Amino acid sequence: MVGSGASGGWACKRLAESGLKVALLEAGRPQSSANFSEHTPAFELKYRNLAPEIVRKTRPIQSQMGDVCNEYTQDWFVNDIEEPYTTPADKPFNWLGRLRMTGGRTNVWGRVSLRFSDWDFKAASHDGYGEDWPISYKDIAPYYDLVEKYVGITGMAEGLEELPDGQFQPPMALNCQESVFRDRVKQKMGRTATLTRSANLTQSLNGRGPCHYCGPCERGCVTKSYFNSAFTTVADALKSGNCTLISNAMAFKVLMDADRNRARGVLYIDRVTRAPREIQARVIILCAQSQESTRILLNSANSQYPNGLANSSGVLGHYLMAHVRSAGGRGEFPELAPAPSLSAPIKPLGIYIVRFRNMKGNPPFKKFLRGYGFECDSSFDFNWGAPSFGEAYKKALREPRAEFSLTGFGEVLPRWDNFVEIDKELKDVYGLPVLKIHMSDSENEKAMIKDIAESAGEMLEAAGAKNIRTRANPSAPRWAVHEAGVARMGSDPKKSVLDQFQQTHDIKNLFVMDASGFTSNPCQNPTLTIMALCVRSCDHLMDEMKRSNI
Ligand SMILES: Cc1cc2nc3c(=O)[nH]c(=O)nc-3n(C[C@H](O)[C@H](O)[C@H](O)COP(=O)(O)OP(=O)(O)OC[C@H]3O[C@@H](n4cnc5c(N)ncnc54)[C@H](O)[C@@H]3O)c2cc1C
Ligand code: SF4
Repeated sequence: MVGSGASGGWACKRLAESGLKVALLEAGRPQSSANFSEHTPAFELKYRNLAPEIVRKTRPIQSQMGDVCNEYTQDWFVNDIEEPYTTPADKPFNWLGRLRMTGGRTNVWGRVSLRFSDWDFKAASHDGYGEDWPISYKDIAPYYDLVEKYVGITGMAEGLEELPDGQFQPPMALNCQESVFRDRVKQKMGRTATLTRSANLTQSLNGRGPCHYCGPCERGCVTKSYFNSAFTTVADALKSGNCTLISNAMAFKVLMDADRNRARGVLYIDRVTRAPREIQARVIILCAQSQESTRILLNSANSQYPNGLANSSGVLGHYLMAHVRSAGGRGEFPELAPAPSLSAPIKPLGIYIVRFRNMKGNPPFKKFLRGYGFECDSSFDFNWGAPSFGEAYKKALREPRAEFSLTGFGEVLPRWDNFVEIDKELKDVYGLPVLKIHMSDSENEKAMIKDIAESAGEMLEAAGAKNIRTRANPSAPRWAVHEAGVARMGSDPKKSVLDQFQQTHDIKNLFVMDASGFTSNPCQNPTLTIMALCVRSCDHLMDEMKRSNI
């Protein structure tokens, strides 16, 4: 198994707890509570978290997400200089959230956990674009249940077909701005704004404590109240006695037994000694994150598979998708602002506006296909930016600022022209050829971005917000942390790399269980679906092993 993030964590838990011996290769270091700093004030840090240029020296890409990659957490992230990637000059692309710790991106993720529905799995049948997924909602629903019960997700049931309800823990309360916004937008526009369904506990679960509202989950959580593979799924797998975690192990290529057309092991580089090593296995599962798993397959090209392993279709690397997230709006509800306080509880999630474009009951929206949802943040703060000095400043500072912001997350259509390939000119410090990423917006995404800003403005207006400002920026160079699709699933081996169980069509004992397999990129955040699919695929894998088919 390669990778210990959202997918790898589940795969090793499911297999190891069922009695299989699992070797877990993870490029990053081990994670532990000693690294968590959610309660550390900035003044205890060497540079008070005020010197981003120091972080930028080694992480010029990762630190563009300064709220998660900063002085607190920079060591968890890839060193962009040592492990680069390239893009064409006219297609800049920020490949963010590249973690090098046990737990991968789940160390710092936003935790929004939403189900997909048949509006997503069968989107091509609804609007004629692209391909349907090789599964339906009913195939994955039991696995959503299983994963949600273990992960612990706070949420409100809404009874919507397009955003199916799940196995929720009790909801965190909405604040005044959120309640007013929810009620008015429903009343005036018929749209649903619900508590963001989020992997934060409101009740104890498996020895993990409920959230105590300290705020910065992206710096870790000593009470384990958010979901991070490092202290949940991976810890369970290790506890079973059947899983061995091999840290600092950078998988280079999958090794083949060409005569039997079987994967036989993985060649990896020990990141500490830089020595190459091999490990043998009956089954290989890649869970290294979409582009990373695809990079391994492309780097594993051999005489039998000259264009990359399991790539008889020629599709591997194509159909890269990553949400558009560059548009939205903000406003204020001054009448709802309580007196600000430095020690107030901080709710680690806001509200979520469910997709309303191109949905049932409405005629198809003329300007673009598919749709978007909004993540909304509601904050009450001191007026830190108040002008003036001295007494006047102190007085102005205490005037409460209530701000409500909406950020659209839009579906990107799968297009052949958005792809990754191996850059033959460049290797990382471990000697592994790096990726070249080609990604740009189509007219569909451009029209969607414009509409996201307009509808954010309309909803803020309907809710009675003041001082409304909207934004519709081009998505390049992109906030890419929800990438998917580069080893797509499908029923036709000529048009896809994986089958519905994320097993490569070409090589029976080779699986890719991260979001590489997504056939489309619904606007809902992907990780809950990554985890549910992964468990489903592991169950299939074990059935096949029992039948000696693998
Ligand atoms: C800031 C941020 C916010 C996010 N918010 C949300 C959200 O709110 N909701 C949501 O659904 N998703 C969110 N995501 C995305 C979510 O984190 C990912 O979808 C999810 O973690 C992907 O799981 P994965 O298993 O594919 O990869 P990861 O979790 O990234 O794990 C991959 C692991 O593989 C390891 N690895 C990589 N290459 C190799 C190699 N060659 N050899 C060995 N190991 C390797 C990495 O070190 C890493 O530990 C967010 C991500 C970020 C960065
Ligand atoms: S806000 Fe809650 S989940 Fe997040 S770090 Fe604090 S206690 Fe943990």
